[in-house]
Amino acid sequence: MTETTTELRPYSVSSIDRYLRCPRQWALRYRGDPEDQQPRKEAPEHLRKGTALHAGMETAFRLAMEATSPPTPGVKMDVYREQAVEALRASWIEQGLPRTFGTLDDAIGVLTRALEALPVLPPEAILGVEIEMREDTPAGHPFVLYIDVAFRTGDTLRIWDWKNSRKLKTPAALAADVQTNTYAHFLLAKHPWATRVLIGNYSLPLRNKVELVSEPSWREAATSRVDAVIGWIEADEVFAPRVSDACGECYFKPECPAWNPNSPYGEIRSF
Ligand code: SF4
Repeated sequence: MTETTTELRPYSVSSIDRYLRCPRQWALRYRGDPEDQQPRKEAPEHLRKGTALHAGMETAFRLAMEATSPPTPGVKMDVYREQAVEALRASWIEQGLPRTFGTLDDAIGVLTRALEALPVLPPEAILGVEIEMREDTPAGHPFVLYIDVAFRTGDTLRIWDWKNSRKLKTPAALAADVQTNTYAHFLLAKHPWATRVLIGNYSLPLRNKVELVSEPSWREAATSRVDAVIGWIEADEVFAPRVSDACGECYFKPECPAWNPNSPYGEIRSF
């Protein structure tokens, strides 16, 4: 029998989303032996493309943040195009994405057009890139979060999440968004000089964003939701499979008793 490793891993927005999508998928991902899981870790292609685009944006913004002199007024982020494209290519290859005609070129096009649209900010205005924070939730659960990029303008914090999609959230959906409002909660706590925080989603293909001030009640609702779902996870003893459209991309299908009656993971307690 393999020891469960749940207690060693902090929760995250994506792990919580995974539980809500399918409790059994959550258990197969987070309660099994991590070594065991290596062969089936391959993410769907659209997620890997998003990772490659993120790598390009991260490189460009890191270079802007580490610049030793202020930017020339009006200059755009495509001054870092070469390094950003190189980072995208490296990530693309590392993830085994297809290099058939057009696919990589399309991604490079999305990246470079986004960089051409964004101004270079002074280094001190970029608080961090791919920020990893390990915190406790208000109820004391270990939690890890990754913020794509955070900015400072005066006493205002801004958090952006890069999106690989042409579908932007509506302001109402962003107001109710657990991820960005939870991130806003933790980032504000870390920077007590800030009097407000703006949350935003930036669509790389659209070169457009939706951004608004995060209200205290939204952040409270988001962190309460996080703690509530963690409570459900910790009380769950069954982790029932939830068959849905998500099964189509689920790389745990061979282990899932809903799809494979011979699965050795039919009983969650056998972990
Ligand atoms: S195949 Fe479907 S039911 Fe089974 S773990 Fe994956 S998402 Fe859940």
